[in-house]
Amino acid sequence: MKIPPTGLGKAHVLGALEAARAHDADWRKGRTFSLVYYAGDDVLELLHDAFMKYFSENALNPMAFPSLRRFESDVVSMAGNLLGHADVAGSMTSGGTESILMAVKTARDWARANRPEIKAPEMVVPITVHPAFHKAAHYFGVKAVTAPIDEHFRVDVDAVRKSISPSTILIVGSAPAYPHGVIDPIRDLASLAAERGLLCHVDACVGGFMLPWVKRLGYAVPDWDFSVPGVTSISADLHKYAFAAKGASVVLYRSRELRKHQFVAYADWPGGLYGSPSMPGTRPGGPIAAAWAVLQYLGEEGYLRIAKESMTTARAVMDAIKTVPELRVLGEPAMTIFAFDSPSVDIYALGDAMDRRGWFIDRQQKPPCLHMMITPAHARHVEAIREDLVASVREVKGTAQAGAGSAAMYGMLGSLPDRSQVKDFILEFMESLDAKQS
Ligand SMILES: *Cc1c(COP(=O)(O)O)cnc(C)c1O
Repeated sequence: MKIPPTGLGKAHVLGALEAARAHDADWRKGRTFSLVYYAGDDVLELLHDAFMKYFSENALNPMAFPSLRRFESDVVSMAGNLLGHADVAGSMTSGGTESILMAVKTARDWARANRPEIKAPEMVVPITVHPAFHKAAHYFGVKAVTAPIDEHFRVDVDAVRKSISPSTILIVGSAPAYPHGVIDPIRDLASLAAERGLLCHVDACVGGFMLPWVKRLGYAVPDWDFSVPGVTSISADLHKYAFAAKGASVVLYRSRELRKHQFVAYADWPGGLYGSPSMPGTRPGGPIAAAWAVLQYLGEEGYLRIAKESMTTARAVMDAIKTVPELRVLGEPAMTIFAFDSPSVDIYALGDAMDRRGWFIDRQQKPPCLHMMITPAHARHVEAIREDLVASVREVKGTAQAGAGSAAMYGMLGSLPDRSQVKDFILEFMESLDAKQS
């Protein structure tokens, strides 16, 4: 495609955008279980308005837009107060991945300053930890050593202990981990880290703005935040269960002294003195303003209401799954994300059968299972989910391994013992995307 020689006009261009989305996932009707966190049209409208007010502003230079600087420190402070640390230090970032990249880079540079004898730093991460940690390992030259999980899908603390080497700088746990929605034993991980003089990061990208409300509602939630001694940093996404506009997360540190290892400065550029707290240069103002706005708009009361509705719905969907004899929920999910599998039917074939009924459910592996993330958008669809699960189980039951769709692909890839072949497959798929006309 080439840029058109003359502009096509607003109506034409916007019409083309509208037409193009006809085959996209229908998140408004509760048909997706990840990617979009939707708390109702009033929240959406507020986000639009707040975002548009700061649509053109750039938080790159804190002197030019002091309002954005204030919103950012307010958001970090609100997050710190929520997560057990009123005097927290932190930054807003573009999302969970950037928060995690920053936490790992900070740990690496902290170790360079405080443990200079370490030449090849390592971090111990559960196998369920988000791939952003492996991305960070790749980008920043920190080796990720994986530790297995136990039968409850929580990281095995003994295995973590055994994985610590003289080069370890950081231990990571999740609250909860995305695949099964289960919280790692943070107290044990943090005290192990403290005992050995290591940093301890808790990845609460998905749980950071949900677990505190879930706990206040009276559900059992083990301690995992800054109230736990030894936890030195936390990542928590605003664009997930804080229902902010996309492009918003926080990375938080127990001390300013630790956070300073996140920053980068360059003093010799002819363009001026340059300091940068995180990955980007230009930083859009919209996501910062929208995140500040939604926290103020919903307040504790609003978040508690949404958490209550999400938890009630998530428990109802899990109960519905448990009534289907062929299906089972994995582990004891702490909040509103969970996985389910089947000892008797091909779970990927079941996923394909649900696809055909208009649901968009994520596939997982090791073990093969399906994943759901529940928001208030699903409240009215519990019965429809149950009916379609029952119908889909009936459809795939007794059929041999399905021959098409994700079932065939996952079946084939899952059986390859050489994981580098699977890696190549993923990379080739990514390369093919820009060639594809959809
Ligand atoms: C979503 C998520 C991330 C990554 O966040 P992005 O905003 O997608 O970059 C990291 N960890 C967990 C547990 C998550 O759920």
